[in-house]
Amino acid sequence: MPLHDVYGRILRNLRISVTDRCNLRCQYCMPEEHYEWLPRQEILKFEEISALVDVFLDLGVEKVRLTGGEPLLRRDLPALVRQLADKPRVRDLAVTTNGILLADQALALRQAGLHRVTVSLDTLRADRFKVLTRRDALDQVLAGIAAVPRAGLTGTKLDTVVMRGVNDDELADLIEFGRKVPAEVRFIEYMDVGGATRWSRDTVVSRAQILDLLGRRYGRVEPVPEPGSTAPAERFRLPDGTVFGIIASTTAPFCAACDRSRLTADGMWYLCLYALEGTDLRGPLRRGASREGLAALISGGWRRRADRGAEERLAARDRGPLVQIARLKKDPHLEMHTRGG
Ligand code: SAM
Repeated sequence: MPLHDVYGRILRNLRISVTDRCNLRCQYCMPEEHYEWLPRQEILKFEEISALVDVFLDLGVEKVRLTGGEPLLRRDLPALVRQLADKPRVRDLAVTTNGILLADQALALRQAGLHRVTVSLDTLRADRFKVLTRRDALDQVLAGIAAVPRAGLTGTKLDTVVMRGVNDDELADLIEFGRKVPAEVRFIEYMDVGGATRWSRDTVVSRAQILDLLGRRYGRVEPVPEPGSTAPAERFRLPDGTVFGIIASTTAPFCAACDRSRLTADGMWYLCLYALEGTDLRGPLRRGASREGLAALISGGWRRRADRGAEERLAARDRGPLVQIARLKKDPHLEMHTRGG
């Protein structure tokens, strides 16, 4: 029996942050100089993640995505991928990465059973990359992306956060680049999530504006109908057949179809990217809770789920950063890089 929340949304999708550490400092995610890191002894071991995933699979989850922080910083990530890929009920197993370490790891990840990767890529210009991420690593990212098809991985996506005056003149370049990889490019509206302390409405390039920019360059842009889809991206087709996506979480949220929840590297479970409170699963797990006990905790939480975080943000007047810095310092779980993007 699928598990429904208050609005009838089914639990299907689990995003697991395997580390809160990152090797970039993107302006829209980690703009501060200093961060509070999760204590190492609290980070879930692979066996603990695997045990929790079994419970989520019992409850209907079929898609698992490893993220972070930067997931490829987690030592021996392919070993975790292998444990998860060996579970037949995991229908879709993906990693979201910034690509810096991908050239070294793509083959091992594929051999461990990974199904596909999404690489975050906001610019193709080295000088911009350096300003945006505060690291000089575009060449490594491009080498990482090149390694993906060589490793035999397909279904690759490239995710671009579009920011006004930062990279909104590169949308067509990114689409052209995606064609060559090959990978489907998805443009993400800049979101006011926890950690995006420099967010402002003026910097958001909306779905409508993205479509307008691409329409002017390519001509007619057609929506790709996908009835019943719960994916966050709406897909569009250019006249030459190239498909791209837009994730309009800021101006046209997909809360009504959201089937995702998130597990942090230290075992906190969140029902919404914007949620301020989560459920501790590490504590009960380490105290020896049974699989049934954990299932009861998770299913009860999901049944009570009434989160519509992005829609609430859309309705907010005087919209600004979700959480102020002082509160982020006290509770790093509110940070996007801890929550798992
Ligand atoms: N380090 C990995 C990566 O870069 O893909 C995984 C974690 S990162 C937090 C996951 C995704 O969240 C990235 O695609 C990133 O661009 C996106 N992200 C972070 N902050 C965002 C924001 N304020 N608005 C929209 N997307 C954001």
